[in-house]
Amino acid sequence: MLSAAARTALRSRRFSTKAVEGFTGAVGTTPLIYLKHLSEKTGSSIFGKAEFQNPGGSVKDRAALGLLQDAEEQGILKPGGTVVEGTAGNTGIGLAHVCRAKGYKCVIFMPNTQSQEKIDLLRMLGAEVHPVPAVAYENPQNYNHQARDYAAAHPNTLWTNQFDNTANARVHFRTTGPEIWEQMGGKIDGFVCSAGTGGTLAGTGKYLTEQSGGHTKIGVADPPGSVLAGYFKTKEFNRSGTSITEGIGQGRITDNFATCLGFLSWATTIPDEKTIEMLYELLDTEGLYLGASSALNVVGAVELARSLGKGSRVVTILADGAYRYQSRLFSKKWLESKGLEGAIPNHLKKYVVL
Ligand code: PMP
Repeated sequence: MLSAAARTALRSRRFSTKAVEGFTGAVGTTPLIYLKHLSEKTGSSIFGKAEFQNPGGSVKDRAALGLLQDAEEQGILKPGGTVVEGTAGNTGIGLAHVCRAKGYKCVIFMPNTQSQEKIDLLRMLGAEVHPVPAVAYENPQNYNHQARDYAAAHPNTLWTNQFDNTANARVHFRTTGPEIWEQMGGKIDGFVCSAGTGGTLAGTGKYLTEQSGGHTKIGVADPPGSVLAGYFKTKEFNRSGTSITEGIGQGRITDNFATCLGFLSWATTIPDEKTIEMLYELLDTEGLYLGASSALNVVGAVELARSLGKGSRVVTILADGAYRYQSRLFSKKWLESKGLEGAIPNHLKKYVVL
């Protein structure tokens, strides 16, 4: 017989006592982490959804599974079929995992500027990888268009089209949104995150907007060089600037992002200096080893919390861990090459170990 304290502890854990079925059963139901030090410093309550705990290591496991389940339900992906996608990172890794688990062939087109580690990982996960010249979206040789063309030329082959297939946002509406709402006990003043496809922001934001009757303020946090925050503010596209962040920022309004324009009510652009400082601060104070998009998201959450006032409760997404980027983010030479070494306060420089 468990003590009352042990029962409470068990209830508050992420894991149910039941086993889940396979890789796909382990996607989602991630913990929501109260960021203690940052919350005390800000005077608000800041929470991060630990998407790095998904079995493929990122928030994109949800999209990969959602896109494939939707295609199966529509009958456009049949047993023994092939899945093709244009992706430079986490979506490809998520798709490669889910394809192995479900028995599909996985074909990935990616820009040839990507790291050898990513190519190796995708191949280790059984994917057929086609590195192609890194050319702009407008060019027919762009990796996304090559993925589309591959699907058109091969039988029983699905192009998942993560940017413009809104099954991506819908999986976040069904899973990420409800999980956050429940974990926050229905008390949530703000939700903010960055967007690549926009699926996470649109799906989660829509659910929280509906559940809160419009109370939860939904915001986008953008890296430099992305048009989304500027478009929200002025309806203009400004592509100037670049960022060290990977997997986020966008040069156009994707169909997934378009679905959040009706309820998006706040936007910010975060300079890389703030992102990198937060990345090291989260490591130092919270013990979290996160990728740059997560750090940018947390800067956005602090800004939104400040604009909502003391005591506000704000949630963001911790999209993945630093493991896929450590040779960059923790390298003195790389940080110097990006002009970012000076952005790291002296007491945090001890983490620059490579
Ligand atoms: N962070 C990281 C690290 C990512 O790889 C992505 C997806 N490319 C995102 C955030 C953004 O997610 P979404 O595509 O749902 O906008």
